[in-house]
Amino acid sequence: MLERVPLLEKSLADYAEVAGEEAIEAIRAAAAPLVGARILHVNATAYGGGVAELLATHVPLLRDLGIEAEWQVIHGSDEFFAITKNVHNALQGAEIEWTAAMQRVYLEKVLDNALLLEGEFDYVVIHDPQPAAILALAGSSTVNAPGTKWVWRCHIDLTDANPDVWEFFRPYVEQYDASVWTMPEFVPSSLSMNRIVQAPPCIDPLSVKNLDLPEPFMREIVKQYGIDPDRPLMCQVSRYDPWKDPLGVIEAYRLVRQEIPEVQLVLAGSMATDDPEGFQVWEEVDAARHGDHDIHLLSNIQQVGNVQINAFQRAADVVIQKSLREGFGLTVSEGLWKGRPVIGGRAGGIVLQIHDGENGYLVDSVEECARHSIELLQNPARANEMGIAGREHVRQNFLSTRELADWIGLFNQLAG
Ligand code: UDP
Repeated sequence: MLERVPLLEKSLADYAEVAGEEAIEAIRAAAAPLVGARILHVNATAYGGGVAELLATHVPLLRDLGIEAEWQVIHGSDEFFAITKNVHNALQGAEIEWTAAMQRVYLEKVLDNALLLEGEFDYVVIHDPQPAAILALAGSSTVNAPGTKWVWRCHIDLTDANPDVWEFFRPYVEQYDASVWTMPEFVPSSLSMNRIVQAPPCIDPLSVKNLDLPEPFMREIVKQYGIDPDRPLMCQVSRYDPWKDPLGVIEAYRLVRQEIPEVQLVLAGSMATDDPEGFQVWEEVDAARHGDHDIHLLSNIQQVGNVQINAFQRAADVVIQKSLREGFGLTVSEGLWKGRPVIGGRAGGIVLQIHDGENGYLVDSVEECARHSIELLQNPARANEMGIAGREHVRQNFLSTRELADWIGLFNQLAG
């Protein structure tokens, strides 16, 4: 059996306060035909990164609806995860050499995992490319029973996918009953499937990362990390990944510092088990600090967990997500939900979340990022107004309840 991820219990009723009673009732009614259904979600990592974040809420909420939902993770090796990170980069547009040796390692490891699949399910949802070939390799496994519906959820932007790598994956993806995408623009035109669905991700307003924190508590946490809560603060929360452009954020911070010398920067990023590039990028970012004590380079290695991320995002005068490529960028909704304006790279799903000039800014360069940061740091009233607009945008579009409703809708359609 694949490794099962242990989960906390969650109650949908608790979400009525933020999402409204009506939304909760509508979800319960739509889920009624699914009570007792067996649903398996499979991805590559139990922590670190957006998919793990989503599943930690989504699966408990399915259970609360009376659905037998499970989350399992595939196992890999350093070599496998190095290859799948290359695949991830290539599917986001990077040039890589996709060799027969890499394909062999990939398929062998996915086969190992397919052989470990156990149990019977009505729906199996496979997330992202790492386990994508598992359906093709599941053969006569009980999990691959004739009535089981398979869904591939792609969290990344395939607009510019490297053709060699995408052509390798396409036949595997086309075996699924449906695929789910963050934005219609991400779907390659060559993909031929009956059901291609758009459903952007969401944040959990009740998770420790997003719930309201009393201000004294928030201040105390940031102080523990050497950050002065009374001085201006820019903050980017992201894995240490070149696409998140941490070096660009440091450059922008340096330009801001010329105007606002007391500014501080927090870069917080967890190291995920499926992301071997993280440690290398961390070192590059550390070198780029040139020993500046006002750049706080933090990660789960310094015990930065959800409470700390919550505090950093709340303490920030401006939240940054300067990605060059992005699937969705949960950190944008996280910042907006906390009533902070967010400056984001004009990439992927960030454009769904930031309405330029209303709840933050979309930027294409270091200079633009710096210019808007200065503007917001010098005008806190404007920053707060944008934050209020941002929180409402997230409330209406990017909370867990909306995503849950989308999934229930899809499962019902697949059953029909
Ligand atoms: N995250 C975290 N700790 C960190 C860095 C990131 O908890 O040190 C979380 C972050 O708050 C967000 C998720 O990881 O919930 C990252 O999701 P996003 O969609 O922004 O990016 P991805 O990592 O999936 O590319």
